[in-house]
Amino acid sequence: MTYISEPEAIGEALLEIVGPEGIIPLEMQWAYTVDGLSPAIVVQPASVEEVSKVIGLASRWGLGVIPWGGGTMMGLGNRPHRYDIALDMRRLNQVIEHEPADLTITVEAGTTVKELQARLAAYGQRVALDPPWPDRATVGGTLATGIAGPARWRLGHPRDTIIGIKVVMPDGRIAKAGGKVVKNVAGYDLCKLYIGSLGTLAVIVEATFKLVPTPRSQRVVACSLPTFKQACGLAKELQWRLLPIDSLWMEWDGGPCVLVCRLAGSPGAVSRSLEELDALARQYSGAEAQPLERWPEVVSSPPVAERLVLRVSVLPSRLVACLEALTALEPELMVALPLAGVAYARWPAEASTPNILQNAFQAVATYDGILVIHQCPFKYKEGRDVFGWRPPAQPMMKEIKRRWDPKGTLSPGRFVAHL
Ligand SMILES: Cc1cc2nc3c(=O)[nH]c(=O)nc-3n(C[C@H](O)[C@H](O)[C@H](O)COP(=O)(O)OP(=O)(O)OC[C@H]3O[C@@H](n4cnc5c(N)ncnc54)[C@H](O)[C@@H]3O)c2cc1C
Repeated sequence: MTYISEPEAIGEALLEIVGPEGIIPLEMQWAYTVDGLSPAIVVQPASVEEVSKVIGLASRWGLGVIPWGGGTMMGLGNRPHRYDIALDMRRLNQVIEHEPADLTITVEAGTTVKELQARLAAYGQRVALDPPWPDRATVGGTLATGIAGPARWRLGHPRDTIIGIKVVMPDGRIAKAGGKVVKNVAGYDLCKLYIGSLGTLAVIVEATFKLVPTPRSQRVVACSLPTFKQACGLAKELQWRLLPIDSLWMEWDGGPCVLVCRLAGSPGAVSRSLEELDALARQYSGAEAQPLERWPEVVSSPPVAERLVLRVSVLPSRLVACLEALTALEPELMVALPLAGVAYARWPAEASTPNILQNAFQAVATYDGILVIHQCPFKYKEGRDVFGWRPPAQPMMKEIKRRWDPKGTLSPGRFVAHL
C-alpha cells in the first residue's frame, strides 16, 4: 500500500461521491491486489459523473488509480509505481443505445462481454469481441487490453470494431472520440489511442461498436496434426481457399498440434466447407477433422498469478521456427493464432521463471519477434519491463503520457517503459 497523508479525509470525500454502496468493504479488498500491491480503498462508481469526480479527486490529491473490469487480465503490465484507489467499473453496465437497423450499439464500459452478446443475440447480431471468460471480461477491460483472439480471423481486432468512445481523462474531465456512424473520424482517431493503453491514458466509460449479423449456422472442428509446420500449413491453405472460417487457433500441450476452426455462415456454405476442410485435414495428417460441440476452453480457469505466461509476436512466416524453439523450454501449453503470428506459452507455477525468461527472450529475438510477459509471479517483474522491448516511438509515447496524465494519476508505471 502507498502512503496517503490524509486517508480519512480522502475516504470521506470518496464516500460522498459514490455513496456507501459504492465502497467495497475492507475484507473484500484483497481481490484487488495488483502485483502484490493493495489499494487503500476500492470504489465502485455507478455513473460516468461519479467516475469523473473520483478521478478528479485522485488527481487533486496526487493519488494513483487503477481501473478494474472483470480482473481477468490484471497480470499484464509493469508493477505500478503507486496504487491508492481501485476503480471497479462493473456498476456501469447499462446499454445506452442499440440501433439494430444501423448495426450499432453504445454500452457502458463495465458491461460484461457475455451480457452484451446475449442482448445482441436476441436481434440476430453480435459484436466482434471474443475474450476468454466473457462472463467476467468487461467491454472496457477488453478494449483497454487491446488483444485479439481467434475471432480475429474474420472479424479483426477490437480496435476495428469500435467506432466511438467516451472516456474520463486523468484530471476528471469527460471526453468523447468517434461517434455512432461507421465513417466518423475527422482529425486524429483518438479511439485507437485508448485501445491497448491498459488504462494509463483514460478510463473508458462508454463504447460504441459496429455490429455484425449472427451466422445462421456454425460448426467447430479440430484437426490433429503431428507438427507445427503441418498445422500452420493447413491454416494457410484454409486462408487461401477463403472458406467461411470465423475463428481459428492452434493448441499444443506436448502431444500433436490441434488446429481448431469454427466455420460460420449459411447452412449450405458451412456444410460444403466442412467437406472441403475434412478432405484437406486428411491430406495434411491422414486423419479426418473431429467435430466439437463448442469452442474449447483451453485456458479453463482465470489467470493464476503464479504461472508464467508469455506472449510472442513474430512474422507469420517465422512462427513455426519460433514455436519449435520455445518447445525446448518445456512449456505446458502453447496456443497460437497461426496467421497473425501471435502465440502464448504457459509454464506451471513451479517452473524456473528467470531461466525461462532469459532463454525465451533470446529465442524470440532470433526470429526478430517481440515477447511480452503476460503473467508471472510479481517478484520477477522487479527491475524488468514486462513488455521487454523499447519501441522506436517510445519518446513519443512518453510525451503522450506526460501531456495526457502529467500527475501520473492513471495506472502509473504499468505501461511500456514503465509509463
Ligand atoms: C489467450 C488470450 C486470448 C484472448 N482472446 C481475446 C479475444 O478473442 N478477443 C478479445 O477481445 N480479447 C481477447 N483477449 C484479451 C482479454 O481476454 C481481455 O483483455 C479481457 O477480456 C480483459 O477484460 P477484463 O474486464 O477482465 O479486464 P481487467 O483484467 O479488469 O483489466 C485489464 C486492463 O484494462 C484496464 N481497464 C479495465 N477496465 C478499464 C476501463 N474501463 N478503462 C480503462 N482501463 C480499464 C485495467 O486497468 C487493466 O490494465 C485474449 C487474451 C488472451 C491472454
